[in-house]
Formats: sequence, C-alpha cells, structure tokens
Amino acid sequence: MDGSGLPETRSTCPYCGVGCGVLLRPDGHGGLAVRGDPEHPANKGRLCSKGSALGDTVGLAHRLLAPIVDGAEITWDTALQHVADRFSNTIAEHGPDSVAFYVSGQLLTEDYYVANKLMKGFIGSANIDTNSRLCMASTVAGHKRAFGTDTVPGTYEDLEEADLIVLVGSNLAWCHPVLYQRIIAAKKERGTKIVVIDPRRTASCDGAEMHLALKPGSDVALFNHLFTKIYEGGAFDRDFLKHTNGFDTTLTSAYSDNVAATGLSEGELNAFCRLWLNTERVVTVFSQGVNQSTSGADKVNAILNCHLATGRIGKPGMGPFSVTGQPNAMGGREVGGLANMLACHLDLENADHRAAVRDFWSAPKMPTAPGLKAIDMFDAVKDGRIKALWVIHTNPAVSLPDADGVRDAIAQCPFTVVSDITAKTDTARLCDVLLPATAWAEKDGTVTNSDRTISRQRAVLPAPGAARADWDILADVGRRMGFAKAFDYQTPAEIFREHAALSGIAGRFGRDFDISALSQLHDAEYELFEPTRWPVTKTRSGGRFFADGRFFHPDGKAQLLPVQNKAPASVPSDAFPFVLNTGRVRDHWHTMTRTALSARLSSHYAEPFVDIHPQDAVSLGLEAADLALVKSETGSATLRVRITDAVAKGQLFAPIHWTGETAPTGRIDAVVAANVDPVSGQPESKASTVSVTKF
Ligand code: SF4
Repeated sequence: MDGSGLPETRSTCPYCGVGCGVLLRPDGHGGLAVRGDPEHPANKGRLCSKGSALGDTVGLAHRLLAPIVDGAEITWDTALQHVADRFSNTIAEHGPDSVAFYVSGQLLTEDYYVANKLMKGFIGSANIDTNSRLCMASTVAGHKRAFGTDTVPGTYEDLEEADLIVLVGSNLAWCHPVLYQRIIAAKKERGTKIVVIDPRRTASCDGAEMHLALKPGSDVALFNHLFTKIYEGGAFDRDFLKHTNGFDTTLTSAYSDNVAATGLSEGELNAFCRLWLNTERVVTVFSQGVNQSTSGADKVNAILNCHLATGRIGKPGMGPFSVTGQPNAMGGREVGGLANMLACHLDLENADHRAAVRDFWSAPKMPTAPGLKAIDMFDAVKDGRIKALWVIHTNPAVSLPDADGVRDAIAQCPFTVVSDITAKTDTARLCDVLLPATAWAEKDGTVTNSDRTISRQRAVLPAPGAARADWDILADVGRRMGFAKAFDYQTPAEIFREHAALSGIAGRFGRDFDISALSQLHDAEYELFEPTRWPVTKTRSGGRFFADGRFFHPDGKAQLLPVQNKAPASVPSDAFPFVLNTGRVRDHWHTMTRTALSARLSSHYAEPFVDIHPQDAVSLGLEAADLALVKSETGSATLRVRITDAVAKGQLFAPIHWTGETAPTGRIDAVVAANVDPVSGQPESKASTVSVTKF
C-alpha cells in the first residue's frame, strides 16, 4: 500500500532493459499512480523520469479499439479469419518462406513464445525477427562465439561491487538511468572509478574520471591494444587461461592491429590501460555504441577477450556486461525470437536441437536454416519474396535504417498486418489489417531484464474496447490456420509453464537457459511469482556464470577470438562529409508512441535536433536554433541546430525518436544507411555519412 491506503499491484516498467519494478495503483477512472517497487532487486524503489511518468501515458485518446480491415471496423472473428486465410493461402501458393513476422522487444515472453512457435514450428519458416536486432544482435553473436551460448555472465550487484566501471558505447545515465544511479551511489561509498568510451561527451561523463573520445567504430583497436598491455603487464591469468582456447592467436592478432585508428593520445591510452590492469574488479558495460556497428560482434569479442584473458568474469564485481535496450530483449532471446535462433538458446542449425524442439511441440515442420534478419526481411518485402507480413508492436517505417525504403516496401507488400495499441504510427497507416492489442498496464506475463531476472508484468487496467493480448491474437490465428491443439492456450501461465518445460530440454543439451523448475507453477504461484534470476533448476538458482571456468562450447572451454579493427562501412566523401551518430534522449522512448503523451517528458526536448561542433557550424553558416537539412544517399531529415563541443569536429548526433512529415521532421532513420554487421545482421546506426545545409 502507498500513503493512500489503497492496494497496489507489483509490475515492471515497459521501457529499458534495466527492468525496474513498479507499484501501480489505479484511480478507478482509467488513471494510474506509479512508484518504484522497493522490493524489486533491479531498482530497489528507484525510477527514472520515464518510469515515474508512466501514469501520464495510459489514456485512451490515441488507442486503437477495434480490428480494422481496409479502413473499416470489423469483428475479431472476421479479421482473424482473414489474416489466417491470407497467410495460409500465401504459404500454400508460395511456400512458408513467403511470409514473415517482424516483432518487438516490447512483447512479453509469453507473446514472443507463441509467435516463435507458430512461425518456426507450424508455418515451418524461420522468418521471424525482432526490433531487438537493432539493439543487441551483435552481443548475441559475440557471446555465442566466446561462450558457446548467449549468456550474460554477471549480475547488477557486480556494478556495485566493482572498483572500475568501463562504459563502452553506452550513455547509461540517460538510457539505463537506474543502473547509472546505482553505480553513482556505489561510487560515493567505495570510490568506484568510471571510464566512458564514446566519441561523444554524454551525460554519463558527468560522473566519470576519464572520457576517451575515440573515433567512431574504433573500439576493436582500443581493446586489442588493451589485450597487448594485459600480456606485457603480466596481468593475464594463467590458471583461468586453461579454460580457454585461442590466447596465442588472439595475442598475435591484437599486436598486428593499429591503435592509431582510435585517434586517442598515448597519454590517454596509457592512463586507461594502467587503470584497467591495476584494478581487479572491472565491469565493462557495453551497449548500442558497440552493437550498432558493421563490426559489432567483433567489438563484443574484443571486450570479452580482455575479461577472459584476465579471468575477470563471473566473479563479484568483474565481467563483461551487455545492457539491453528494451524491456524484454532478453526474453525474446530466450524464446528464440531472432531469425537465427531456436527456442531456449538452442541452435537452429543443430539437427539434434531441432529434433528435440520439434518433438516437444509435435510440430509438423521445422526450418533447417536461419530466416531473414530484419534488414534482409524488408529487402525481401521490397523485392516481392515476402508476400504476407505481420508487424507486432514496432514501427519499422520510422525505426529501421533506410526508413523511406522500408516504408515503400511495406506499402507495396501484397498483405500486411499490424498489431499495436494505436493506429497512429507510420507503419500502421500503411497496413491492410490493424489488430487492437492490449497495452502495458493491461497485459499479464513475464519479462527478463539485462541481468537474467524474470519478473511479472501484471494487468491493472481493463482492456479497452475490443483490445486483446498478443499471445491470444497469435494463438487464435494459429488455431484458424489448422493448428488447434498446439495453440489451445487459455492463459499466459499455461504458456509460461510450456516455455519452462521446453527449457528443461535445453538444459539436457548442456545449455545455459534452464528454468525447468518453474514448469510446474500453479496459476496462483504464477500470479504471485517474485523476480527470479535464471537459471532455475532443481539444483541451481540464479547466480553468476563462468567463475568455475566451465563454458558451453563442446570442449567446455571459452574461445578467445582474434579480431581486427574495421572502419565503419560508410566513408566520408565530398558529397557526404559528416559522420552521423544516432541515439536516445533521456525522456523519450523509441518512436514516442507512449512518451509523447506525457507533457513532462516532452518538455525535456520538444523537437528533433542535431548536435554540431562549433567550428562546423561556422563553416556551414549555421547558428543555434536554425533548421538544418541533414541528407544522405537514402533520405533526409530537417532538424533544429544545437551547437556543442560534445560532438567532435566532423561528427553529428541526432536522436532516433521523432517522425513527422513537416519540418522539423526528425525521422532520422531515413538518413541512416542499412549497412549491417556480416555476423550479427545488426545495422550500423552510429556512423552514417551525411551532408548538412541550412534549411
Ligand atoms: Fe523504466 Fe529503465 Fe527507467 Fe527503470 S531505468 S524506470 S526500467 S526506463
């Protein structure tokens, strides 16, 4: 209970991957009071600006309240039969790979599980991918190459037990604010040092001892240099190296890399390496600045190499730590929501894993090869290979690189379905069928945050109009496509139990993700489920991975991987001389479907902007508050000018959130090139080349 004496319900914040617990108290008139849950291990009562403004975002003014087909409201029965028929007919005529789902890290695990089961087990294609591809696919690839599985080794407590936190490509202060607050609180107590590695001076630098403004994309060169210094300084851990392969080849490769690519001075490099080598308890936190790169997976492995070589992994206050952007990016990874993954961290390409999942699901057909990753998926929509597309809780016409091309591809796709809470997104406006889904405060299920803690999200408001839960919509379509038994779900608890039972199979294959001890939860236990870090088996609960030196490659060892620095794919030219970095602002989320409803949040930044270095502003004849046209080969955006030396000369920064057709448009992903990491398929959203002129 809060001060009002009225009951509160425990749930989770739907924004970033910190996964803060919230206490919700409906006012009985559709409104909601929100405060941080002091009992939740992720935030212990804290909330950031976005979390504390959640109550401002639950109004119904913008909501989609009924199914719509070709502009007309119709019944669920008609709408879902239409969707099922169109998908079934397309598959019958053109095969299972002619259809695709593009889903979201906003989905709850139960929603994600049903979508993945329907596509991979029953449609028989792996063409399901997620906007998490834009967020952390490079980390998944890096983890799998180093550890054998996509395993986050550490816990949030490590951030408080570390003596040195290295933030790489992460503006934690704005993008994961509660974790940053926890680190700053620890700093006051134990003097934790913070280093920020980022081309841009961000709010995270305010609490840091050191900011290394390296050149965009040069992280591999920096961490290769650190690796050589680890060797020269004798800081490698001979005992721990027995649990790894590849040290010698990685060292040779690291020596042949060129640290000059970072643009950092010798003094800066020495100071950083000295600090790293002399501090045993180091946590390296990395995020989109590492992942959103054509060498994102290599950057991740360059970081992991340093932790593996020193044995600084899986122990209190030590380890590499990927922080995910979305509330359930981790849950999506766990159910296999990426086109190249199978459920429960099993491998799609492994025939034994496929057979086990197929038998568990009694699935009629399973794909044998990965499906289309996000960028490839929309290329296939564009060239007609994908003929039926279902987009769920995401807005690719704004948020994918080459957004104009994606918008045009969706517009020409023969059949498109969008499930969302509103019809007022750029993607929803283009589709044939609109399905009203329940929103955050109306949904029941689970999410997994960045440190593997599974938490319940609980419905506290009634579903408005005809809105239905995503798992329910997907299961209904599955039944109508002829898979009645497999999709006969009545509650999210049933789905969770099935997911947990399937994870027991993964556990038998020696995989990391095993929550089989939760497969027998009664409905009442599911309802009361407390935040729990996986794995959860009969013999193990939570904790860190890898301190014992046991990894998930077949020989039980970790793999150090030789990687070499690669420049970003887009090279500045006379026509496009600036390097554009994109990212989040503190108070908005994704394409602002929710946060724009809060006047408080919108007052932080009222319109889209571009940050320009003072010398560049002079040479371009731009003054503060001018409008600038930022253009690339793929499109343009019109943005308000901010002049600041937080960005280096020749570099720009613009936020990802805004859309709109009139200036300032701010639809920045129209400008971002669709260059992807060849290993992870993640787009390079932080190094596009552009021109800037006065608008
Ligand atoms: Fe929500 Fe993330 Fe803020 Fe926590 S830190 S309140 S999860 S946005």
